Amino acid sequence: MVAIKRVVDYAVKIRIKSDKSGVETTNVKMSMNPFCEIGLEEALRMKEGGFASEVIAVSMGGGQCVETLRTSLAMGADRAIHVDAPSALYPLTVAKALKALVHLENPGLLILGKQAIDDDCNQTGQMVAGLLNWPQGTFASKVVLDKEKKTATVDREVDGGLETLCLDLPAVITTDLRLNQPRYATLPNIMKAKSKPIKKMSLEELKVEVRSDLEVVQVTAPPVRKAGVILSSVDELVDKLKNEAHVI
Ligand code: AMP
Repeated sequence: MVAIKRVVDYAVKIRIKSDKSGVETTNVKMSMNPFCEIGLEEALRMKEGGFASEVIAVSMGGGQCVETLRTSLAMGADRAIHVDAPSALYPLTVAKALKALVHLENPGLLILGKQAIDDDCNQTGQMVAGLLNWPQGTFASKVVLDKEKKTATVDREVDGGLETLCLDLPAVITTDLRLNQPRYATLPNIMKAKSKPIKKMSLEELKVEVRSDLEVVQVTAPPVRKAGVILSSVDELVDKLKNEAHVI
């Protein structure tokens, strides 16, 4: 099972809403979160390698998530689940809903992106692993499954180098950028995806409350950077560092 988030496209220049309540999403190009795309690609490769029998894509949010799920189906997912919910869900709510879906579907592996590029929370995978009491391999840059031993060996990119973990399955894996290069959906697969099933569910059905102990107070854009200047000598640089930037 792969969790797919619909986010503002990575190439869009983000604008903040005038009331500072969040990022403007009206009339903005939305796409699949890049780390979720990598997660889906990994799941498809597992199926192609004979390690999985089906790939289920799951997305939570407003009706337009269905569009993103269609892209997942066109890439190769077998079926999808859309959990109809307000678009601004907090990671704990998503994690609780994923836990409920895991209990319904019993997947052998739950794959998420390491983070969603809209809110950069980097929390959902860790939370759902905690709620399920499943082992977790976060920031995976390589995953090797062993069908017989029912394990996943995960390379993680950590500050000091690579950490290799062996996880008993079922487990939660979150994907890093270098795990793979996701495929493009081909035209025949886009056509085929139209007839693949997307099941609609609600948070109530999953017995998950939209409630959070967290409140976004305000979202502001970073200060505009001043234009750079080209200096003519080291003396001038030292003078500016001393008298303008006051850093030496
Ligand atoms: P985050 O913890 O918000 O940075 O998100 C990490 C990962 O959790 C994403 O890459 C998705 O795999 C999953 N996720 C977060 N929000 C959603 C959502 N609304 N629907 C489906 N998956 C989600």
